[in-house]
Amino acid sequence: MNRFEAFTTRFVQSVGKKEGSVSPVITPSASYGYGDPETAEGIFEGSVKKPVYARMGNPTTAQLEGILAQMDGGIGAVATGSGMGAVSLAVLSLAQAGDEIISIGGLFGGTYSFFSETLPRYGITTHFFATDELEKAEEAITSKTKVIFLESVGNPSMRLPDIAAVAAIASRHGVALIVDNTITPLAVSPLALGADISVYSTTKIISGNAAALGGAAVFREIGEADKFRGERYKSIHGIIQKMGGMALIPNAKKKVLRDFGMSANAFASYLTLLGLETLPLRMERIVQSMETVALALSQEGLTVNHPSLPGHPDHELYEEAFPGGCGTLLTLDFGSREKAFAFLAKSRLATITANIGDSRTLALHMASTIYRDFDDGAKAFLGITPGLVRVSIGLESAADIIDDFVQASR
Ligand code: PLP
Repeated sequence: MNRFEAFTTRFVQSVGKKEGSVSPVITPSASYGYGDPETAEGIFEGSVKKPVYARMGNPTTAQLEGILAQMDGGIGAVATGSGMGAVSLAVLSLAQAGDEIISIGGLFGGTYSFFSETLPRYGITTHFFATDELEKAEEAITSKTKVIFLESVGNPSMRLPDIAAVAAIASRHGVALIVDNTITPLAVSPLALGADISVYSTTKIISGNAAALGGAAVFREIGEADKFRGERYKSIHGIIQKMGGMALIPNAKKKVLRDFGMSANAFASYLTLLGLETLPLRMERIVQSMETVALALSQEGLTVNHPSLPGHPDHELYEEAFPGGCGTLLTLDFGSREKAFAFLAKSRLATITANIGDSRTLALHMASTIYRDFDDGAKAFLGITPGLVRVSIGLESAADIIDDFVQASR
């Protein structure tokens, strides 16, 4: 059984109910009646498991959180209003003013801005390293380092991190590892590889059809001799003492979700649950198409950046550590902005948009859009060249995508 097949039964069976409404129930209410003051007190102190208020969670969202936690083998999950909400929830639940983050590898533009522009305003500093600078990254760890962060696949650098090697560094130094697994849900299992928190923009392949903005962070259980019980995380020892192994969840909810309010809404969670049902099927098809499309386009003379291709710097790692592929993205470098624009104008199939992981094939010129405000140094670090087009492969026939892209590039 391949890693996608293993989830087909679980997802459809846990999204649909056997009794009453088969499709998930949407509970849009912002508040919940507690009935009596004793129950109200119990809910607020945590002994009664009933919804508090929609900013802290809602029943539709709770169903989504349960399935995502199971997907990654976590103790629980917190769904958020967007992927950036999930990134900020996870990071801010562990880091405070004076702390440091080590970021390894390529980064989505929003996360790069969050680390390089926004967090410094709140006294949190990030040190950036390339995927092949693990020694330097390890040397940069200090007593102030609270988070090591990486994307399972650099978007759009297409560089692959050695997640197991980074997890070993994190474990050696007792530092938390957060993996943004947006591009490779099911294909990569961050918590099994040693991460402490996996984060997702569910807006992408988990929903899969541009219907719902959303995100989620999945947390692992805290053990007896755990890194979070060490001196580095003394600010969360109180909550660990009170809540035990699942403490990372109330820690994130009370420290971040409650006060910053990046909460998911019920309708978005419902749409995300519908997408999740078919995620394994879509992932499997797209990952198969990806290798066919990447190879065919490179044989047609296009400059294709994808780790499945033998010339890619991470080809060996791809073969060894990414048995489920590395998601829906490849990039094409046309050498100049003019040629990239001409390709996009001639493609009949690609939808030009900033999203990825859709049922449809999407494409975007990077330097003139998401990365337009970044300076040359940041662009070079993130792999943004003047002619770079990011492509997210959809569910169309691989042959149709190849035909269209070849005609558009001529
Ligand atoms: N992480 C990655 C890898 C992404 O590609 C994105 C969005 O493109 C995000 C996070 C942010 O997600 P959202 O747009 O849902 O906030």
